[in-house]
Amino acid sequence: MIEGVKQQKWWGWGEEGKAYRHEDKPKFAPFVKKMVGVDITLPVKPIRPFSSLEVPASQLSDELRGKLNTVVGGKYVQTDDETRVVHAYGKGVRDLIRVRNGKLGRVPDVVVYPGTQREVELLLAAALEADAVVIPFGGGSNIVASLEAEPGETRQVVSVNMGRLNKLLEIDEESGLAHIEAGVLGPDMEDQLNARGWTMGHHPDSFVWSTLGGWIATRSSGMQSDKYGDIADICRGLTMVMPGQVLTLRPLPSSSSGPSVREMVLGSEGRLGIITSAWVNVHRLPEVRELQAYFFPTYEAGLKACEEIVTSDATVMMARVSDPLETQYIMANGKKSGRVSSLANKAIQKLMLQKGWDLEKIALSFVGFEGSANHVRYEKGLVAKVVKNNGGLGVGKGPGTLYDQKKYDTPYIRDFMLDRGLICDVSDTSTPWAYAAEIHTLILDRFAKAMDDLGVRGLVFCHLSHSYHSGACQYFTFAIADDSDNQEATYDVAKRVIQQSFVDFHGTVSHHHGVGEEHSPWMEEDISPAGVYIQRKLFEGIDPGNNLNPGKIV
Ligand code: FAD
Repeated sequence: MIEGVKQQKWWGWGEEGKAYRHEDKPKFAPFVKKMVGVDITLPVKPIRPFSSLEVPASQLSDELRGKLNTVVGGKYVQTDDETRVVHAYGKGVRDLIRVRNGKLGRVPDVVVYPGTQREVELLLAAALEADAVVIPFGGGSNIVASLEAEPGETRQVVSVNMGRLNKLLEIDEESGLAHIEAGVLGPDMEDQLNARGWTMGHHPDSFVWSTLGGWIATRSSGMQSDKYGDIADICRGLTMVMPGQVLTLRPLPSSSSGPSVREMVLGSEGRLGIITSAWVNVHRLPEVRELQAYFFPTYEAGLKACEEIVTSDATVMMARVSDPLETQYIMANGKKSGRVSSLANKAIQKLMLQKGWDLEKIALSFVGFEGSANHVRYEKGLVAKVVKNNGGLGVGKGPGTLYDQKKYDTPYIRDFMLDRGLICDVSDTSTPWAYAAEIHTLILDRFAKAMDDLGVRGLVFCHLSHSYHSGACQYFTFAIADDSDNQEATYDVAKRVIQQSFVDFHGTVSHHHGVGEEHSPWMEEDISPAGVYIQRKLFEGIDPGNNLNPGKIV
């Protein structure tokens, strides 16, 4: 471990010693038992010790080690087994299943920690001279296999951990722009900005363990994107070290200088070079921040309300609605005395029944407001009208406050479930509004059929997470009860049925998780064969030796 650079645990999400707990949520175990037949209260097998893994030996040559030592200093050139394994994968469920079972693929031979842009330039030159493969590493949080070296890679594999490049360099207060090093993790970045009264407003669920460079390289989207934009909107300029040259894009609000090079770097997943810093839009910290909760009689009514909210004069920071099953999951996952479980309190239920609602079909929505007190009051008024017009019911800000406090703990639940033989993961797409409700129904049907065919119990639920003028992102979470040795194959079936449904029905293969190897098979259907041709030519032109994170995207 390198001082000042945080590292996730090798077998799961986040830091060692932190885990999801169900004991304080009495409705959760019965919910899981009812839905997929698994008793989560039973004791589980402990995670195997790291020492039981057979980690392939590093193939780093003395010559390349010597050069890397000269560039960054010996202590920033790491070849120990645990560091290499942590850098071999992201945090997709397939990654977790494999690493827990000791199925290690092509583990990097070395992890290098540059401290300056110049060091990145020199280490990339040294690696390319040795014809090594170079894979930039941010927080290691991706779920699309965009960090793993190709199986059977015979060249040396160098993982470049960007964690020492973690500083806020400059704020241009007049323009609302900040220049920030690319290896900074979300909380460290926001701490530095907040200390000076600013925020970037980008908060993916993986915020704690993902970096600015990783967000740009995967075209990430945060939960407040309705107000602040996706990273593609937020990132206005950047510096990227490429083979033999450095790309510098000044921050500009907009430009018509030919096809956008900035857009080519966004989503490039390390295939064009290593992003060392970026200029991003920043905003003054808001006076008020508030999340209000609402119920709708159906998911379709909630979708319609979200569409109307984002196309109204209210510029909310978040408009989210969960389908009925996700609503039940959220209510079951609330603490005994917590505000989420109080959502289902008798008075509210009575009101819903009086309105003739079927409680199995209700949809929970959170809408977020930020800005001056006056502005928030005005927006809440507009939203209240839309909610009413769509038959919804406001239940106050208590549940939203709790959601806000706990949102970054949610990722730990995947490890908890996997410990109990439950494979859980997510897939996201975006469609025009015209297809939003139908794609949801289609995916639920196709998923249920796939589980029947497999003879396993599984569930899928969804929420609308990010909205735009012409459509929205829907975010599907699935869980399958399978503690057999076939977990990877079962996961494949579920993942394929969902991804294929996206492209079959007006959706993109991924709204914000990127492509990696996981989504690569659907790229031609997503952007057409000619689109894939353009991307291939771009990668081949910049990287003729195929050294930069080969095998990802297309
Ligand atoms: P890594 O995983 O380290 O790398 C991802 C890719 O980017 C790799 O190809 C890598 O080579 C490349 N890369 C990293 N840094 C650089 C750099 N400096 N220069 C060039 N290439 C680089 N994503 C969202 O957008 N929104 C969410 O809400 C969200 N929630 C998630 C929740 C969970 C539980 C998990 C596991 C993932 C989630 N993700 C989400 C996915 C993931 O966090 C994003 O893809 C994130 O942007 C990855 O950033 P990272 O720093 O961890 O990158």
